[in-house]
Amino acid sequence: MLRGTSEVYPSSCLKENRVVNIKKVGIVGAGQMGNGIAHICALSGYDVVLSDVSQDRLDQALGEIETNLARQLARELIQLSDIEQTRARISLTTDLAAFANVDLAIEAATERRETKEQIFSQLCAVVPDHTILATNTSSISVTRLASTTDRPEKFIGLHFMNPVPLMKLMEIIRGLATDQATYDAAIAFADSLGKTTTNAEDYPAFIVNRVLIPMINEAIYALYEGVGTVESIDTAMRLGANHPMGPLTLADFIGLDTCLSIMQVLHDGLADTKYRPCPLLVKYVEAGWVGRKAGRGFYDYRGDTPVPSR
Ligand code: NAD
Repeated sequence: MLRGTSEVYPSSCLKENRVVNIKKVGIVGAGQMGNGIAHICALSGYDVVLSDVSQDRLDQALGEIETNLARQLARELIQLSDIEQTRARISLTTDLAAFANVDLAIEAATERRETKEQIFSQLCAVVPDHTILATNTSSISVTRLASTTDRPEKFIGLHFMNPVPLMKLMEIIRGLATDQATYDAAIAFADSLGKTTTNAEDYPAFIVNRVLIPMINEAIYALYEGVGTVESIDTAMRLGANHPMGPLTLADFIGLDTCLSIMQVLHDGLADTKYRPCPLLVKYVEAGWVGRKAGRGFYDYRGDTPVPSR
């Protein structure tokens, strides 16, 4: 299985890493996070069912998983047999009825509370009593989402980082009602995927995004106010603060719709004007220029190399 980016594990150890009580993982939402979560779960030996609203989305997700597995093979992080086994463990569906035998269901759909609540209500009607429910939300209250389900004690936040196969961290967020057995299973599950965990309390945007997204929002304000251009802001933060990528590149990578949702959760949840979303961020989202996944955000990705979109 994959552990981080630099170590190679023989495929023979794949199955042995699974958490004993978790055999099958269901993932709702096959976007950039959902396909990454499906990828690492299947690579680590779990059976995976991945769902989304349309077959097109699912086909696109499978294409991305295959591309990313091929990249790992080219870098000798995995073996050819891992690709075949991983692919064989993943099934795709637009029908949540296929979650009837999952032991862990991870919601990784669009960052809207109403969407997530609706998904959990559908899941509760289908999954067995023992199933743990998890959300990959970047910012929304885990306690609140849990309270809309029939099992708040078996509900937890598993916040993966993007891109999931490469990023080592998983933030674990316990809701008020999450019980110890669920927390222990979450830690063991993260470990089985080769992730390092950190605990965050259930306050808006947890740790990573509480710090990261306001920084990105501030970079967008710098652009909005004409302090710098897209390129000068990104270059300044790469070379001046030693960030591996500039904040506007990173915003495009995360998705501007997700960045805006997180700022709104921070603004609403903490009632501090320092969290007001930059109007320019709102405008880009209104235009549908939500970043890399849309082909255009602060940069235009439709040519051979990204160029500032305006
Ligand atoms: P995305 O836009 O790439 O994918 C979201 C997917 O959810 C889409 O394919 C959409 O069709 C699907 N979806 C929407 N409603 C659905 C429903 N009712 N049932 C099934 N699928 C549905 O977004 P993403 O970047 O993958 O983010 C997904 C979640 O992960 C969000 O909660 C986000 O906050 C969180 N997250 C994102 C990042 C990041 O860097 N992008 C990092 C960590 C966590």
